[in-house]
Amino acid sequence: MTSDLNNDLCDRLNSLREQGLYRELRRINSPQLPHTQVDGRTLLNFSSNDYLGLANDPVLKEAAVKGIERYGAGSGASRLVCGSLAPHHELEQAIAAFKGAEAALAFSSGYVSAVGTICALLDAHDVIVIDKRVHACIVDGARLCGAELRVFAHNDLDHLAKALRWADRRNSGLSGKRRPRTLIVTESVFSMDGDFALLRDLVDLKEKHGAWLMVDEAHATGLYGEKRRGLAEEFGIAGQIEVQMGTLGKALGSAGGYICGSRTLIDYLVNRARSFIFSTAPVPAAVAAATAAVQLIQSDEGELRRNQLWARVDQVKNGLIAAGFVLPPVRSAIIPLVVGDEAKAVEAAAVLREQGVLIPAIRYPTVARGQARLRLTVSAAHSAADAGQLVAVLSTLKSKI
Ligand SMILES: *Cc1c(COP(=O)(O)O)cnc(C)c1O
Repeated sequence: MTSDLNNDLCDRLNSLREQGLYRELRRINSPQLPHTQVDGRTLLNFSSNDYLGLANDPVLKEAAVKGIERYGAGSGASRLVCGSLAPHHELEQAIAAFKGAEAALAFSSGYVSAVGTICALLDAHDVIVIDKRVHACIVDGARLCGAELRVFAHNDLDHLAKALRWADRRNSGLSGKRRPRTLIVTESVFSMDGDFALLRDLVDLKEKHGAWLMVDEAHATGLYGEKRRGLAEEFGIAGQIEVQMGTLGKALGSAGGYICGSRTLIDYLVNRARSFIFSTAPVPAAVAAATAAVQLIQSDEGELRRNQLWARVDQVKNGLIAAGFVLPPVRSAIIPLVVGDEAKAVEAAAVLREQGVLIPAIRYPTVARGQARLRLTVSAAHSAADAGQLVAVLSTLKSKI
């Protein structure tokens, strides 16, 4: 029996290999740092989402240790049973205050925040409209919730407006126990391109059509806005977004995800979000570290880190532009070097590794076929020398990228 399974899976894996889509794990023998230990070598790491250099910060580590000492290694149960520990409540209060929202809810990851929330809000009665380039967790939530799914071309407002007009016609023709709803979901900073959603236009459109808006700030929390709340703050429209989401695992340097919005939204999710209800509460270490990160980001140290990050991003971008690379104009910690062909991207990543730089190739299904790229990410923890070395290596490899 097992050989039948294995034979079948071997065929499938071989097919992935032939398409240049085979993936494997690379063991990292050090904390998340600009210089990482990989297979006995030290590589200059430009692939982490630890944008503010918090993952290995002593303040977060100490908070995690204290969380363990006070509340243990495990949380023991789901939140609604007996796992809703004081640190979870502290984290949620801290996130709500940071984001200027009425309330927040912590999940064990950003992925399950999206899936659980979308499925709690919508069912087959409703419509969900998503940008073509949203993260897999939004796509999966959209499919799983059973709502009518419409995908609009990336940042294409005309296409979105068309989908909303369709949804209005569809919804007004439906009767039932409750009014059918339309939810628009987008990222604020897109994870694989580093570009921005047109948030102000999205708000105008959703208000015009009476739709709801959910925005995933995974790559913006801690980086944009006067209070570093995210791109919605920067664009001045946070108060008009019904559902704000983010992860605690990127700029916040720990693990977990969150939703914030009205108190009613959070009370509803506690009752209806299955990925929240039917899962053991996040461990005290992660939650305590995340709370420390939320506080650090709001302090002068948070502003300092953000300034360091932008200084490094500008240094890398200016260096690459001088070397002839064509880069997106927006300021983001994510800099895509689009190669196109999957095998070519894998080859470029291998050459970079030989030269001591870690930037993995990102391929289908993370990005569209033929859109394979090196996804270069910058952190506040990188030094000017790190950035200089990166630019020097990439400049010599320009012909391969
Ligand atoms: C990473 C990511 C997530 C998932 O967050 P995790 O906490 O890693 O599960 C969600 N949305 C976007 C846009 C992401 O990049």
